[in-house]
Amino acid sequence: MMVEAESYWLTNAHVPSCLLNLAHLPQPSREGLCLVNLKISQGNIEQVTIANSIKPDVAYLDLQQQIVLPCLIDVHTHLDKGHIWERSPNPDGTFDMALSQGNSDREKYWQPEDVYRRLEFGLKCSYAHGTQAIRTHIDSSGKQANISLEVFQSLQSAWRDKITLQAVSLVSLDYYQTQAGVALADKIAEIGGILGGVGWQNPDLETQLDNIFTLAKERNLDLDFHTDENGDPNSLCLQKIAQTAIKHDFSNQITCGHCCSLAVQSADVVNKTIELVKQAKIAVVSLPMCNLYLQDRQQGKTPHWRGVTRVQELQQQGVPVAFASDNCRDPFFGFGDHDVLEVFEQAVRIAHLDAPYGDWITSVTTTPAGIMNLPLGKIIPGNAADLIIFPARYFSELLARSQHNRIVIRQGKQINPDLPDYRELDDLLTRS
Ligand SMILES: [Zn+2]
Repeated sequence: MMVEAESYWLTNAHVPSCLLNLAHLPQPSREGLCLVNLKISQGNIEQVTIANSIKPDVAYLDLQQQIVLPCLIDVHTHLDKGHIWERSPNPDGTFDMALSQGNSDREKYWQPEDVYRRLEFGLKCSYAHGTQAIRTHIDSSGKQANISLEVFQSLQSAWRDKITLQAVSLVSLDYYQTQAGVALADKIAEIGGILGGVGWQNPDLETQLDNIFTLAKERNLDLDFHTDENGDPNSLCLQKIAQTAIKHDFSNQITCGHCCSLAVQSADVVNKTIELVKQAKIAVVSLPMCNLYLQDRQQGKTPHWRGVTRVQELQQQGVPVAFASDNCRDPFFGFGDHDVLEVFEQAVRIAHLDAPYGDWITSVTTTPAGIMNLPLGKIIPGNAADLIIFPARYFSELLARSQHNRIVIRQGKQINPDLPDYRELDDLLTRS
C-alpha cells in the first residue's frame, strides 16, 4: 500500500488555508481550501508546497483535490461514562433523568475493570476515526476519584503513542470546600491534570469560585468548568467565572464548556458576558450534539431551540471557540461514536457555520490544541504526519456523505480503520 512507504508525496491535496503556514499561499477556493503537495518522510511532514510547484522526487499519491486534515482533537469528553446506555438508558431523555441514571450506574458498576474497558472502547473508536488528543472529565467524588483516575493513568500511558490524554476532575464546586476536595486538587496536581467542576447558580457561587481559583493558583493548574448547561436566563455562571478570573488575575488556561444559557439571555447580558469572557481570556467549548439532545427536552413536546451557545458572537469577539463530543452512548447522550468529524458536521448544521465556513475548521484542530497546550492541529513541516485523507474534495462533499472510509495516517503510515465491535462490552452491560 502506497501510504506504507518511508518517503512519499501526497499531491493535489485540499487543505484549509488556516491550517497551513505557507509563505505564499496559493489562491484558496471559495471555501478557503488550498491545493498543496505534502512530502512525508520518516513519519513526519517534511515539506508543504503549492501543488504543481515541485515535481515529486519519490513515490506519490495524487489525491485529485481530496481534503486532508490533521488528526482531530476532542477537547471535552466523558470517557468514564461512555457506553452504559444498554444497562442505564435515559427513558425520558431529560437532564434530571440523565443525572440520576448516571449516578446510580456509577454507584453500582464503576469498579476498575468496568471503567477501564469502557474507557478503552472509547479510545479505540476515537483512534480509528482519526483523533490524536482527548481531554476527558472524570467523575471524581469520594472513592470514585481513586478508582477512575488510576484507570485513566494506566490508559494514558498504554495509549501514549496513539492519543494524548488529559484528565479533568468533575465534581460540583462546593466539593472543593471540603477536605476531600482539597485532597482531590492535590491529586490532580500530582497527575498533571486539570482542575474542574460544575458551577450551579446558587447563593454561595462566588465563594465557591474564589475557592477553586485559589486552589488552582496555589497548584499552578488550568481550569475547565461545566457552565450554564441549561436554558435558564438567570443562569450566569460564565459571567461569574470571568469576573472571578479577572479579580484573581488568573494567568493559566480557563475553559468553559456548554454555556447554553447565554443563548437565551438578553443582548445586554450577552454583550457584558462576552466582554468579560474575552478580558479573562476564557476559551469556550460547545457540545452541539449533547446540547441538541438534552436542552429544551419536554415529554411529548417538540423542541424549538437548538441548545448551543452563541458560538458566532463569541468567535466574532475573538473568544476561542472549540467543538467537542461530550457524552457518548450514555444517559446524557444516547448516540455518538467519538468521531470529531461528526461533531464538526453537526456543529456546522446546528450553528450555521457554512455561510461562510471561514476558519471554523480550527474549532476541532488548532483551537482545542491551544486549550490543551499541545503544538498540534496544523499541517506544517516538522509536525508528525498524523493526517486524515477524506473521500471528499469540498466541504459540501465532506459533510454530506458518511466519511467512514477515510484514510487515517499516523506517523506516516495508514492505520487499521476497524472500529471495535459493540459486542466487546456485552458481558459488562448484562451484569447485575
Ligand atoms: Zn461535559
